[in-house]
Amino acid sequence: MRILVTGGAGFIGGHLAEAFVGDGHSVTALDNFEPFYDLGIKRHTVEQCRAVADASNGEYELVEGDVRDADLISELVADADIVVHQAAQAGVRTSVDEPRKVTDINLGGTVNVLESAVESEADRVILASSSSVYGKPQSLPYTEDHPTEPVSPYGVTKLAGEHYARVYNELHGLPTVCLRYFTVYGPRMRPNMAISNFVSRCYNGEPPVIYGDGSQTRDFTYVEDIVDANLSLLTSDAVDGDVLNIGSSDNISIRELAETVRNQLAPELDIVYEEAREADAEHTHASVEKARESIDYEPSRSIEAGVGEFIEWYDANREWYEPLVQSS
Ligand code: NAD
Repeated sequence: MRILVTGGAGFIGGHLAEAFVGDGHSVTALDNFEPFYDLGIKRHTVEQCRAVADASNGEYELVEGDVRDADLISELVADADIVVHQAAQAGVRTSVDEPRKVTDINLGGTVNVLESAVESEADRVILASSSSVYGKPQSLPYTEDHPTEPVSPYGVTKLAGEHYARVYNELHGLPTVCLRYFTVYGPRMRPNMAISNFVSRCYNGEPPVIYGDGSQTRDFTYVEDIVDANLSLLTSDAVDGDVLNIGSSDNISIRELAETVRNQLAPELDIVYEEAREADAEHTHASVEKARESIDYEPSRSIEAGVGEFIEWYDANREWYEPLVQSS
């Protein structure tokens, strides 16, 4: 299969590209190397994908370019059977500070991908959405029919992207599916997220910092589970035109997470509390029943087991990853 992965040098896009190439597919990774965090992590991801391509029957090409460039997207989508659209400005705080830029990238990019996919009659577009579409919980865990009331411009762009995908499915018969990822972690993860931040600080004798009182809860998803869900959807039309939660179905408070990491790496450290950040969701927790039923999705790890594995990976890759995490 020829697969275009937008945001292919990023954390999740990189894991997807690597898995697709390893399975013998022909992958084009598009990325504009947005300097949201240290670009060395993305370069590492690209090298890893190239190494996997060399060792497998897969093909891998990196294209440096922007999802806002409609002509480029049209050209790349025309050469793909499937588009796995991950490129976005992630992170809720950036969207509060720079809502126009985030809307241009997240929504403008999505419309470019969908328009091009209709033109070229792509087999399927799989889009990265987010638990941020829910915003305010009326009940937990979130099922896909829970009301959506995002609390950040980022969440609004993701929800609007889902609606565009549904409308393109209804209007043009384009097979689309949106995956609502719940906070994703694992090897090469973005440095500006709680788990990588806590691990890095504890390894360096610095106390983990919690914004707010730490009672906010999160469903953390191991990146391998995100990859599995996307792999299933390369060949399944079970949920075309629809959305699916992809989470761990487990959840943990940020305080408990910080304590777990601290107790394992630096029990002598106190935890520091700072003022809560605006636009952060209070609680996220995924029901994955719909994904279980439609694509046999099964989360592979408890959060505790996954965090333990991430710490092992961090330790083994500390030499190159840590300086890049800390410079972000
Ligand atoms: P990431 O920042 O590591 O990856 C996104 C990639 O997109 C980056 O490499 C970036 O350079 C690229 N990009 C940004 N703007 C671009 C543009 N204009 N043109 C081309 N490329 C561009 O983030 P991630 O965590 O890998 O997130 C991937 C996707 O998953 C995003 O759509 C994000 O919104 C979504 N998501 C992530 C999480 C999470 O916890 N990581 C949770 C929910 C949803």
